[in-house]
Amino acid sequence: MNPPPPLSTWARNVAPSPTLAIDAKAKAMKAAGEDVCGFAAGEPDFDTPSFIKDAAIAALQAGQTKYAPTPGIEPLRVAVAERYAADYGYQISSSQVVVSPGGKFSCYLAVLAVCSPGDEVIVPAPYWVSYPEMVKLAGATPRFVLSDDSTAFKLTPAQLEAAITPRTRLLILCSPSNPTGAVYTRAELRALADVCVKHNLYVLSDEMYEHLIYDGHEPVNFATLGPEVAERTITVAGFSKTFAMTGWRLGTLVAPLPIAKAVSELQSQMTSNATTFAQFGALAALKEKAQAAAAIAAMKTAFDRRRKFLHAALNNIPGITCQLAGGAFYLFPNISSFGLKDVDFCARLLEQEKVAAVPGSAFGAEGYLRLSYATSDAVLQKGVERLARFCATLKK
Ligand SMILES: *Cc1c(COP(=O)(O)O)cnc(C)c1O
Repeated sequence: MNPPPPLSTWARNVAPSPTLAIDAKAKAMKAAGEDVCGFAAGEPDFDTPSFIKDAAIAALQAGQTKYAPTPGIEPLRVAVAERYAADYGYQISSSQVVVSPGGKFSCYLAVLAVCSPGDEVIVPAPYWVSYPEMVKLAGATPRFVLSDDSTAFKLTPAQLEAAITPRTRLLILCSPSNPTGAVYTRAELRALADVCVKHNLYVLSDEMYEHLIYDGHEPVNFATLGPEVAERTITVAGFSKTFAMTGWRLGTLVAPLPIAKAVSELQSQMTSNATTFAQFGALAALKEKAQAAAAIAAMKTAFDRRRKFLHAALNNIPGITCQLAGGAFYLFPNISSFGLKDVDFCARLLEQEKVAAVPGSAFGAEGYLRLSYATSDAVLQKGVERLARFCATLKK
């Protein structure tokens, strides 16, 4: 009997998301009754604010159960355009906005819209796990540029310049960063933007964590660094992290009109629209400004408290050094002094102490851990105690 033919090169070459895999393993252990401390999750531990849920429920009850226009319901596209004008002075029309089923999908469509097979994409490492896979699924090649904790995990203009070839089409930036929490300053972004303009690159600016920013850091919208920057920038943001709406699957993309149109056309053949009634929840999140601001402020206060606690606790563990990152909800401690591969470190940590953490190598940076502090204070406290006990056994 003939075996069936092999699967496609896409299917065989795609790496499943390691962060989702580790989180799934931790959740399975928990479901089996084990006392697991999860630092692996990439989502807020809060519930979606009820005014947002209410708006989606009302839309559902009112019969918003049909296909919506591919790029999103018009009032939401208008609200997104208005909020970029209010937040950053970025003047765009609603036709430049595309609403997609999740910011992850927005990023993927952005890559597909500007990259052809044979193109190269510069992906600064540590990177969000999905970028390299998206680039490969577009037939392009990721070129990694590694920054370590000596430069606060930030790509420098010189590094960028050195990585550019005639085939480079796109730079993917993420600030505040998942996985490191690093926040680029306006001046640092402007210096990178100059290089991108000089070499005529597109930029995918992933601003998913724009509202989760601490210590007085300023959120910067990359596109507003200049008209010639706006012409080549695709901004992705969304609701998942800001409003604790990960399960709703809603993301936003803003781009120059030709790109926005291409993204919408790609989406029309891939998924049609983002869930119609969910978009009405997102509309409330943007329209009910006072309630939205209160909800964000409450979550941010909790994240900031946990960030400071975790940072201090990690630096108290002999052998670990950790920078105080200014954004998102991750810290990225250096564990290289233990002389253990980070994958082995994480596997043993989960086995011995039931603490789930993601190894830095999943993000292209061996020798680190990504710890999410989007978890309760009690779990954080218990988790770092266990981590300290684990590290003490390694030191012997
Ligand atoms: C969470 C995340 C996204 C996408 O989130 P969605 O849930 O798909 O909206 C995109 N980029 C980064 C860096 C993220 O951490």
